[in-house]
Amino acid sequence: MKVLYPGSFDPLTLGHLDLIKRSCDLFGLVIIAILENPAKESTFSVEKRMDQIHQATLGIDNVEITSFSGLTVDCARKNNVDVIIRGLRAMSDFEYELQVAHTNRSLDSDFETIFLATETHYSFLSSSLVKEVARFGGNVNHMVPHSVARDLKSFFT
Ligand code: ADP
Repeated sequence: MKVLYPGSFDPLTLGHLDLIKRSCDLFGLVIIAILENPAKESTFSVEKRMDQIHQATLGIDNVEITSFSGLTVDCARKNNVDVIIRGLRAMSDFEYELQVAHTNRSLDSDFETIFLATETHYSFLSSSLVKEVARFGGNVNHMVPHSVARDLKSFFT
């Protein structure tokens, strides 16, 4: 089965990477789709985020990386996928994610969302929290892949 894993990944964290690896064990092909949201200013360009994900997933052969703007359902259709993966860290994610899943099904009744519970020791991680720590010079080596830690350092210094 081919699945789409959409998100901002601004930047990729070890939580995202764990979800990618586990999805690759479960499914035949995982397409990581980076959202380019014109309404939300991103820290890293889509090209940079793509490169960070590429570096972190070297050696995994059933992963592809793409980018999109607009609706996730349209990105899924374009890639001939009707299943997306989303991660759940806490109840606070659940309420929003469930709303999004219902909205997507109202747009395309074939569309399915599979939720994976995050690894316990990464469940506190979010891209925005990582950036907050990096902005003030804190250590993020246990939160993000090496190349992302490097990019964060040069972005905030
Ligand atoms: P979005 O802006 O679409 O929420 P994110 O990059 O924040 O994009 O997250 C993309 C997906 O990765 C979401 O399903 C989110 O729940 C999941 N995710 C975010 N942080 C983690 C984490 N620490 N562990 C596992 N999954 C995560």
